[in-house]
Amino acid sequence: MKPLLIVMSAPSGTGKTTLCDLLLQEFPEITYSISCTTRAPRGMEEDGIDYFFLSKEAFQQRVAEGQLLEHAIVHGNYYGTPAEPVREAFKEGQSVLMDIDVVGADLVRRYIAGLPPGDPLRAGFTDIFIEPPSMETLQQRLEGRGEDDAATIQLRMKNAQAELDRADEFTYRVVNDELDLAYRRLRDIIMVKGGLL
Ligand code: 5GP
Repeated sequence: MKPLLIVMSAPSGTGKTTLCDLLLQEFPEITYSISCTTRAPRGMEEDGIDYFFLSKEAFQQRVAEGQLLEHAIVHGNYYGTPAEPVREAFKEGQSVLMDIDVVGADLVRRYIAGLPPGDPLRAGFTDIFIEPPSMETLQQRLEGRGEDDAATIQLRMKNAQAELDRADEFTYRVVNDELDLAYRRLRDIIMVKGGLL
């Protein structure tokens, strides 16, 4: 597969994590980009696997040292993508999957636009927005997860609308109506861009 820099964004509750996991299972040549964050670990999350959990100071130091390819504030916490692992993966012919928000996706887009024409990151850049079939379905899914109280769900719905308003900035959009179908669409995008189809 030609190395791809896959950027996936979606409102929370859209099934993005499941879709990312399916891609990583099917394509061992895709490496997951582990982000840094200042938010506290949740549930079973592990440092260095799900995220690099950092203090605000440590995060800001990485920003000052230019170690992050992009960074943004999401839901009040800092999140950012370490640049070095992305470059390393590309050097080894691997693809990289980044699960980041719409602000981060735009920063990556700008970063890519500033690279020389022959840079492999440019040719491999693949930005995909995963969307819910409707706002009603999204609300039902968030309520069905039973993880959040009503106020949090309202906040997530507000954030979701703000993210959906930027969906047309993405080259590809996949509606997650049924998981199997959505995954097949996603897989097709990766196969075509990766030169496998
Ligand atoms: P969560 O805290 O639920 O894991 O993630 C919250 C949001 O932050 C998600 O939309 C996720 O895509 C986004 N996110 C995770 N890592 C990064 C990152 O490195 N950069 C940016 N810009 N957003 C991120």
